[in-house]
Amino acid sequence: MSADTNLDIAALDKAHALHPWTHFESFSRDGALVIERGDGCSLWDSDGREYLDAVGGLWCTNIGLGRREMADAIAAQAEKLAFCNTFVDMTNGPAALLSAKLAELAPGDLNHVHFTTGGSTAIDSAYRMVAYYQSCAGRTDKTHVIARNSSYHGSTFATISIGKRAGDKMPEFDYKTDGIHHISAPDCYRAISDRSEAEFCDDLVAEFEAKIEEVGPDKVGGFFAEPIQASGGVVVPPEGYLKRMAEVCRKHDILFIADEVVTGFGRLGHWFASWDEFGVQPDIICCAKGLSSGYQPIGATIFSDQIWDAMQGDRWYASGFTYAGHPVACAAALKNIEIIERENLLHHAAQVGRYFEERLSVLEALPLAGDVRGRKLMMCVESVADKVTKALLPDHLDVGKRISDAAEARGLMVRPMGHLNVMSPPLVITQSQVDFVAETLEHAIVEVTDQLVKDGQK
Ligand code: PMP
Repeated sequence: MSADTNLDIAALDKAHALHPWTHFESFSRDGALVIERGDGCSLWDSDGREYLDAVGGLWCTNIGLGRREMADAIAAQAEKLAFCNTFVDMTNGPAALLSAKLAELAPGDLNHVHFTTGGSTAIDSAYRMVAYYQSCAGRTDKTHVIARNSSYHGSTFATISIGKRAGDKMPEFDYKTDGIHHISAPDCYRAISDRSEAEFCDDLVAEFEAKIEEVGPDKVGGFFAEPIQASGGVVVPPEGYLKRMAEVCRKHDILFIADEVVTGFGRLGHWFASWDEFGVQPDIICCAKGLSSGYQPIGATIFSDQIWDAMQGDRWYASGFTYAGHPVACAAALKNIEIIERENLLHHAAQVGRYFEERLSVLEALPLAGDVRGRKLMMCVESVADKVTKALLPDHLDVGKRISDAAEARGLMVRPMGHLNVMSPPLVITQSQVDFVAETLEHAIVEVTDQLVKDGQK
C-alpha cells in the first residue's frame, strides 16, 4: 500500500492496466511491483525497498532520476506555455532551440528535425520520409526498405513490421510485409559459426547486396539499423560492418537510417554512436529515450540537408503529431542536454562504461553464462545450457526471469528477455555501483544455477 494514498495501487493496476509484453497468466498471479520514487540510479518501491536500476528505466534514464532542476524546468515551461502546436506556421521557443541544438550535436549535415512523441513515431516518420524524399528526388519507385532480423524499431504498425524479433511476430497481428525486407542480424555469438569475424562481415555485406538485387536497386529506398541492436539482444556488429553497409547504401541511393533511440545521448559515450563510435554518417538519425532521459515523452527524426533540399518546393509534408515540438517536452530535453554537457557525462559514460564491460566480463567464467557482450553502458548476459554447443535451456525454465528475480531480491534490477539479462544503467552510475551490479548479478546467476542443478535441469 502506498504511503501517500489509501488506494491499493497494485490492485487497481492489476484490474485495469494492460502491461505491454507481459504474460497474462503470470501477471494475473503476481501483479506489478509498484515503484514510488527514483533518485540517481536508485528506485524505491511502495514498501520502501531500494533497488539499483541497472535497466535505466527502459534504456532511457540517462542523467538519472530525481533531478530538481529538471522538475523546475518542466514546471516553469508548463506554467509559461504548456502547449503550442507546431503545424503550419506556428512554433515555440523550446522547439526551435532544441531543433538548433540537435542540428549542432548531430554529425555532418544532419541539420533538420522532425519532432515526434517517442522512438516508434521517430522511426515511423523516417519510414515515410524515405518514400517522400526518394519521390522528391525523382526516384518514385524507391519505397521499399531493408532492415535486419533481431531488430526492434518500435511498436506502431509500421515500425513493428520493420523490426523483427521472434517474440514480436504474433500470428494474431497482420504485419505489413509489402515493401519491408529483412536480412541477417550481425550476431557474432549465434550466427558466426566457424567463420572469422572478417569473413562473417563479408557474408553479411554480400547478403545485403544480394537482397538489393533481388528486390531491385530502383525499388530499395532505405536501410534501417540500430548501431548496436538493443532489444534484439545487445548485438554488437563485426568490425567495419556498419561502414560497409553504409557504402552499399550510398552506391544505390539508399538512405541509411540509424536508429539511435538507445545508442544516442551518451549510452556509448557520445551524443550519437553512428559517427563517433562506428564512423558512419547516416542520412537520418532517429532518437528518443536519452533525449529527455525519460523526464518527458519525446523523439526526433533528424535528417540531412540533402533530404531537406530535395523536399523544398511547391509541396508539403503530410506527417506530424499534435505533440510534435511540445514545449514542455522540448524544455525538458534542452535541460537534459545542458546537464549532460555541464557534468561531462559523455566522458564519464565512456570511462565507467569500459569499467562496466571489464567487471561483467568476469561473469563469463560462470557455467550458465554463454556470452557476456555489449559495449560500455549497453551490456547483456546470455544464459545457456551448454557453453560449447550454445544450446539454450528450455523456455519454460524462464532463466532470464529467474535471474532477474534473484537479483531483485538482492536489490538489483536487470531486465529479463528470454534467455538474456540486459543492462543499460544511467550514465551517472559510479564505479562502486558497477561493482555492486557485477557482484549481485554473479550471486543471482550462481543461485539460479544451484537451483537448476538441484532440480536436475542443468
Ligand atoms: N528503436 C529502438 C532501438 C528501441 O529500443 C525502441 C524502444 N525500446 C524504439 C525504437 C521505440 O521507442 P518507443 O518505445 O519510445 O516508441
